[in-house]
Amino acid sequence: QKALLEQLKGKENITKEGQKINVYANIGNVADLGAVLKNDAGGIGLFRSEFLYLENETYPTEEQQFAVYKQVAETMAGKKVIIRTLDIGADKQVDYFNLDKEENPALGYRAIRICLTRPEIFKTQLRALYRAAVYGNLSIMFPMIISVAEVKKIKEIIEEVKDELKAEGIPYKEDVETGIMIETPASVMVSRELAKEVDFFSVGTNDLTQYTLAIDRQNSKLDEFYDPHHPAVLSMIKMAADNAHAEGKWIGICGELGADLELTEEFLKMGLDELSVSPAMVLPLRKRIRDL
Ligand code: PEP
Ligand code: MG
Repeated sequence: QKALLEQLKGKENITKEGQKINVYANIGNVADLGAVLKNDAGGIGLFRSEFLYLENETYPTEEQQFAVYKQVAETMAGKKVIIRTLDIGADKQVDYFNLDKEENPALGYRAIRICLTRPEIFKTQLRALYRAAVYGNLSIMFPMIISVAEVKKIKEIIEEVKDELKAEGIPYKEDVETGIMIETPASVMVSRELAKEVDFFSVGTNDLTQYTLAIDRQNSKLDEFYDPHHPAVLSMIKMAADNAHAEGKWIGICGELGADLELTEEFLKMGLDELSVSPAMVLPLRKRIRDL
């Protein structure tokens, strides 16, 4: 089996009928870069930037973040690297943020909600990202979006950040591809409007399943009810895909479901453009695609 997968390195992700799809890898740390290269991923579809905050005693500085994003961009040598902005709160708590204890953390103050209400934290990360984008093929993705208004607000903040960098004479990339995660039912329902505002969608099926089925993804007592193959979840992915494509934008999946080989055929039928999976799943998924 291992030798078989080894033979797939350097090969395309293409079905027998000629349909192609990008297969990228999800990472949570620069230490995972070796596995991305070793498994011949076409790019990085989700870099969870939280580790920078989780492993630090206080807010990571712009320079600290810049160094990491630059390293990832350079290591991937022109291949796409999608970095997700800070997604803490809920299951990921960081002491120095001093977040209040909440009744319903998964429905609480987290991710983009923190970034939009504490723009100084958000701007530091965006500055580092726009600067690092000079060194490779970097894209930026925003988590937990529910509305067009949020995306418009993000764009305003990006403009401010670029104006400031320009005024300071610091090199940055003017046009960086930006996308959002589709991981709330609200984002699916307004996906046609959202698609007009961004360059791409990436479906976070872990949270999308949690919020669609109203089942806490952390509560193992509910495992028998947590069904990511639920038709409601699959219909939502299809709806987001149709709306993305209607606006000429691309869409991928970066949640766990992207690696579910039982669904690969269905995802190809939906016309998904990309699947981003753990590095170890890149070659098994490539095999599945090529066998279809
Ligand atoms: C998701 O929700 O599917 C996702 C990819 O993000 P995370 O698992 O980090 O919440
Ligand atoms: Mg998520």
